[in-house]
Amino acid sequence: MLAMLNALLGLFSTDMGIDLGTANTLVFVKNKGILIREPSYVARHKKTGAVLAIGSEAKLMAGKTPEAIEAIRPLRDGVIADYDGAEAMLNYYIKQVHEHSHWIAKVPRPRVIIGIPSGVTEVERRAVSAAAVQAGAREAYLVEEPMAAAIGAGLPIDEPRGQMIVDIGGGTTEIAVLSLGGIVLNRSLRIAGDELTEAIIHFARVKYGMLLGEASAEEVKITVGSAIAGEKTSELQAVVRGRDIGSGLPKSTKFSGTEIREALAPTLQTIVRGIMDVLEETPPELVSDILQGGITMAGGGSLIRGIDKMVSEATSMPVWVTDEPMSAVVRGCGKLLTDEQLLKKVKVGARLRY
Ligand code: ADP
Ligand code: MG
Repeated sequence: MLAMLNALLGLFSTDMGIDLGTANTLVFVKNKGILIREPSYVARHKKTGAVLAIGSEAKLMAGKTPEAIEAIRPLRDGVIADYDGAEAMLNYYIKQVHEHSHWIAKVPRPRVIIGIPSGVTEVERRAVSAAAVQAGAREAYLVEEPMAAAIGAGLPIDEPRGQMIVDIGGGTTEIAVLSLGGIVLNRSLRIAGDELTEAIIHFARVKYGMLLGEASAEEVKITVGSAIAGEKTSELQAVVRGRDIGSGLPKSTKFSGTEIREALAPTLQTIVRGIMDVLEETPPELVSDILQGGITMAGGGSLIRGIDKMVSEATSMPVWVTDEPMSAVVRGCGKLLTDEQLLKKVKVGARLRY
C-alpha cells in the first residue's frame, strides 16, 4: 500500500537534475526524462537588468541586440562569469518544471541535483545552491560535471578502478580520472567547441577574406568538421554565406572537409595534449586500469568526426564516445535522483535546505 502511494507520488514529483553547461542547459525530471534542452543564454536589459528572454529565444537575439539589450552566456568559460544570469536561468527552469505540475493540489518542492564545472569555486557553489533554493528547490546538491558525465555514461565509478572521462563542451574541456567515487585528478581546459568554431571563423577570414558569423561557422563545424582524414570526410563540402572583408558585400564560398580539418587541427591538438598531460600525472596503477577500460568521451565537442581515433592514436589507449554525449551530464544527475547511496559519495560542497 505504502509502496503504491510512494510510486503514485513519484509520478507527480518534480525532482530534477540540471546540467548547467557553458553552451547548453538540460533538465532531467524524475520519472519523465529530459524535458528541457536549451542554449545557455540570457537576454536582458543593460540598465535595469530585467530579463527579457532565456534559452533559444535569447540566443536568437545574440549579435542582433540594440544598444540597450545584451545577450550573454553566464558560464561561457566554465566559471560563473555572470552570477545574475546563471541565477536567472536556474530560476526560470526550476519554476517552469515545478509550476507546470501544479494541476495536482500540492506537489512537494523538488530536490535538485546540479552539474557544475569542476573549476567553480566554493563561493560560486554556494551561490548556485542558494539560487536553486531561492527558485523553489527543497534541497540542492551539486555534482562536478566529469563525475556526472561518467555516471551518465554508465561507468562503474565507485569501484576501485581508474576511469578517465573527457568532456568536450562549448567553453571548457574537462579531463578527469575517477576512482572509488571520487575525482583523483582533473584538469579543465578553456578550449573546447567554441574554440573550434572560432578556428573556422579565423580560417575564413585569413584564407577567403570572408567574415563569418558564429552560427554559420558552427554549422560548418558540425556538417563537415573532422579530426582525422577518413573515408568520407575529405569529400564533404559546405556552402557558406558571409561577408567580404574588402567590399563588405555578401559572399558565398565552398569549404572542403580537408580545409576544415586543417583549420581545426591546432585546437584539437591542444585538447589531445591536455589529455596526455593528465595521463602523465596519473598514478601507474590507474593508467593500467584506463588502458583496460578505455577513455570515455562525452560532450558536444566529442561529436567531431574521428576524434575518438585521434585521441586513441595519440595516447595508445582505447577510446569511445558515449551514446548521446551531449546529455551524459544531465542523465548522470538524473540517475543520482534515485541513487541516494551514490549521491552521498559524489556530491560536493554544502547542501542547502529550504
Ligand atoms: P556544454 O556542456 O559546455 O554546455 P555541450 O556538451 O552542450 O557543451 O556541447 C556544446 C558544443 O558542442 C558546442 O561547441 C557545439 O558547437 C558542439 N557540437 C554540438 N554538436 C556537434 C557536432 N555534431 N559536431 C561537432 N561539434 C558539435
Ligand atoms: Mg557539459
